[in-house]
Amino acid sequence: MTIRTHPTDARAWVEVDLGALVRNARALAAHSRKPLIPMIKADAYGVGAVAAARALEGIEPLAYGVSSIAEAIELRQAGIERPIILFTPSMLESPDPEWIPSDALLMTRYHVTPTLARREHIIAWGQSGEHPAWHLAIDTGMHRAGSDHRALASLHEAIAEFPPLGAFTHFHSAELDDGSMETQEKHFRNAVAGLPRRPRLLHAENSAAIVRRPGSEWDCVRPGVFLYGVSSGQKAALRPESVVSLRARVVEVRTVAAGDSVSYDATWRAERESEIATVCCGYADGLRRHLGAKGCGLVRGQRAPIAGLITMDMTMLDVTGTGCKVGDVVTFLGRDGDESLTAESVAGRSGLSPYELLVGLRLRLPRVHTGTW
Ligand SMILES: *Cc1c(COP(=O)(O)O)cnc(C)c1O
Repeated sequence: MTIRTHPTDARAWVEVDLGALVRNARALAAHSRKPLIPMIKADAYGVGAVAAARALEGIEPLAYGVSSIAEAIELRQAGIERPIILFTPSMLESPDPEWIPSDALLMTRYHVTPTLARREHIIAWGQSGEHPAWHLAIDTGMHRAGSDHRALASLHEAIAEFPPLGAFTHFHSAELDDGSMETQEKHFRNAVAGLPRRPRLLHAENSAAIVRRPGSEWDCVRPGVFLYGVSSGQKAALRPESVVSLRARVVEVRTVAAGDSVSYDATWRAERESEIATVCCGYADGLRRHLGAKGCGLVRGQRAPIAGLITMDMTMLDVTGTGCKVGDVVTFLGRDGDESLTAESVAGRSGLSPYELLVGLRLRLPRVHTGTW
């Protein structure tokens, strides 16, 4: 399949290479030798959840992972029929047994699979239908969600009555080589061994954990950020193809004299007569205001330093000597010719993690989906 949607009048846009996304997914499936549960929460880390899911259908994922019921409903309404797992705790509390909890109602209607950790929730969900699927969340050290790995005995009765389809844990430091992942895995292994029955799908690994070793010990893996082109460290054996590019048009070019300042607070001054391009992309699009001090854009395959603070809707570049003209496309993230700006490097200069950079690309930027797979 090949697709390309053009922004006809966009002044700035996010280009998403869905072909690269699919190849990254295939690379992880081959490396782990296990099926994937692609995490497409937060609008697939900003690239567009429906487009990502449609592209990934061909690799036949076991399920998709989301973080809210609304995200699951969006996928259902787009025609995605594969299982969808909600990886945040559900609100199944009911002070009145006659009251039907709204989360259960929506999850039933849209076939959403919850991840549960509390006895009352397991019973409430188990009684909500005919063997409704769920996964047991086991906390082995992240201390964010799930049932403590040492306290699962209190759930055994409920689990025996309503057996989970899967059980999982989540690593807090999979990118670090500090032994914590192995410790958490040991806790997970022991916790699972103590359950009344082994759930069919055991899973633990996020992108960094998958990349760290070939051949997963578990039944499936849960990659997120790698799919969207972010590598897990300089030493990583497996590297993703770039997926996301942020591009914008030059709308004005002016000459400033030596000593002239550019942008708010006059933090940048021309050392010599300079060509300054104004680009229609600012912090309301997801660029950080202080990227201005260290960042650059790519123009005609060359690096052009950002001149002064990034403003809400516009950013100025020092394009002296590049031949830059009004209408040129500037790249703030991604490749232009032989130069490229990775999510890791741009995030680093912005004081952000690559995750925050991607999910921070605002929705006023149209997503332009491209690629062949
Ligand atoms: C987000 C998430 C992942 C994916 O993590 P990445 O680091 O992006 O690969 C996996 N599992 C759970 C439970 C998550 O919330």
